[in-house]
Amino acid sequence: MKMNQNELGPFRWENDEVEVFIPYSGAGVGTAIILTSKFTGKMMLLDVGDGTLRDLLGLGSTQFVNDLELVAISHGHFDHMGGIHTILGFLRMMNRTEKLHILLPVECTEAIDAIRGFRRVYKESLPFEFWYHELTPGSEFDTDFFKVASIGVEHFGAENKETHDVFMPALGYRIRIGDTTIGYTGDTRPCAGAKEVVLDTDLAIIEATRKVTPESERRVHLSEEEANALGRLAKDYLLVHRIPVIED
Ligand SMILES: [Zn+2]
Repeated sequence: MKMNQNELGPFRWENDEVEVFIPYSGAGVGTAIILTSKFTGKMMLLDVGDGTLRDLLGLGSTQFVNDLELVAISHGHFDHMGGIHTILGFLRMMNRTEKLHILLPVECTEAIDAIRGFRRVYKESLPFEFWYHELTPGSEFDTDFFKVASIGVEHFGAENKETHDVFMPALGYRIRIGDTTIGYTGDTRPCAGAKEVVLDTDLAIIEATRKVTPESERRVHLSEEEANALGRLAKDYLLVHRIPVIED
C-alpha cells in the first residue's frame, strides 16, 4: 500500500511581502500553514496539527523559536490543534524569550485544555510568556506584523451522539501582512462566512475535503467543486485538507 501524497503538500506561494508555506495538510491527519513576513522574518502559524514541529524543523533552521509571533487555531479537531503541546514544549526547551499569542474560537475546549494543561505543568519553568485569546466571530487581533480578523464558519463537531448535529466553535481567518491579505477557511461547510473569508484576498487557502459534492443535507466539509467556486472569489487560491488516499 502507498499513500497518495501529491495533493497533501507541500505548497508554496509568495509575493513581495509574505511567504506562505504549507508543508502538509491531510484531513484527519494534520494541517499546518506557515506565514512569514518578508520584511521582518516574523512568522505566524495557521493551525497546528500533528507534525507541525517536525515541519517547522524541516525549514532547516530553528529561527522560528523566537520568530514565531502568533498561532491561530481554526477549531478544536485534533488534526488542527494536536501539535500545540509539542510546539510549546519545544519553545520551552529551546529557551524562547519572546512573547507568544495563540488565537482560538471562544469555548474551543480541546485547544484551551491542552494549553492550560501545558501551563499548569510547566508554569514554574517557562522562559517565555504566552497568552491564549478566545475570539468570537467578527473579532480583530493585531500584532505589529500580522492583522487578524476572525469570521464564523459552520463546521459540525460530530464527536458523539448527543452533539452530532451541533456546530462546533469554528473560525476562518483573514490576515493582513502589509498590503497583502490571506484568507483561511479552516474546516467549513458552504456558508456565508466561508465567502467572507476568501472574498478579494490575494490568496485564499480553502479546505476541499470531499472529491465530489455529497447529496446529504448535513454537510461538514466543502467539496472540490465548492472550494473551486469559492476560490474564484479570491485573486489566487490553494486547496488543502484533502483526504489521504490509500492505494493498493
Ligand atoms: Zn474539522
